Amino acid sequence: PAPAAARPGLLGRLLGRGDKPAVTRRALDDDMLEQLEELLISADMGVDTALRVTANMAEGRMGKRLSSQEIKQFLAAEITRIMEPVARPMPLYPNRPQVVLVVGVNGSGKTTTIGKLASQFKAAGKSVMIAAGDTFRAAAVEQLQVWGERAGVPVLTAPEGSDPASLAFDAMTKAEADGADLLMIDTAGRLQNRADLMEELSKIVRVIRKKDPTAPHNTLLVLDATTGQNALSQVEIFQKLADVSGLVMTKLDGTARGGVLVALADKFGLPIHAIGVGEQIDDLAPFDPEDFAAALTG
Ligand code: GDP
Repeated sequence: PAPAAARPGLLGRLLGRGDKPAVTRRALDDDMLEQLEELLISADMGVDTALRVTANMAEGRMGKRLSSQEIKQFLAAEITRIMEPVARPMPLYPNRPQVVLVVGVNGSGKTTTIGKLASQFKAAGKSVMIAAGDTFRAAAVEQLQVWGERAGVPVLTAPEGSDPASLAFDAMTKAEADGADLLMIDTAGRLQNRADLMEELSKIVRVIRKKDPTAPHNTLLVLDATTGQNALSQVEIFQKLADVSGLVMTKLDGTARGGVLVALADKFGLPIHAIGVGEQIDDLAPFDPEDFAAALTG
């Protein structure tokens, strides 16, 4: 794919470089607002958000001539305003270990994100442990071990097919004994059998609460930006399966601009802790509302 800067974002399409006709250089009317609305919806920002943003745009501006720059600035400011309250790094607590449960569908980037986070926390002086809780996927366990090596963080594993909750319990015991600051627990992401997955996740939570009734302290849901609108239903599903406390959106380095994050922020208000911007260990960035809005509208 072309580098992000070379691809038109919302405004590029607004100006007619894509398959959308140019809507600027004329007075703001209902037709133009409707085109804007469609544009925002096509960027995955959600119908409610699109309606609200265009309604705000209409206020005091109907019949006025707006330059493309003015429209761009307005949209970017609206998006920034919506996103600012949810742009929050993962909170750290004094609990030892602080238990971070990581959930999400397979392929969303859970393993990679755990590796990147472990590396960041380690660089910040924390002692970190990882538990490879997706015991049914040997490849996932191996992949996590590779990431653990890269991050310089121990990865606790259990034999293939063994009970993830029992691994979680052992990992808690080990993390407590070693005085680890953080224990990150990977989990399975098979949505095909939701009842099984729910049972598995709640058993993990039950078991770690035997060790620490306040755990898990964070439940991170990892979402893949390239799935677009799908992210909305994934949040809904995982909120039922686990008590999601924050989001990480991966693969924002590709063609996906993650417009769905605006819809997510509007609908769920869950904090966005970080974004994945590549496959390397350092490719995890804090979520920056202004940069995000600029990329979306640029
Ligand atoms: P899991 O099944 O949820 O554990 O997903 P993985 O961590 O194995 O990631 C699935 C694929 O997505 C791998 O090929 C990763 O390299 C890739 N991936 C993960 N995060 C990112 C990201 O932020 N950007 C890009 N470009 N690829 C990513």
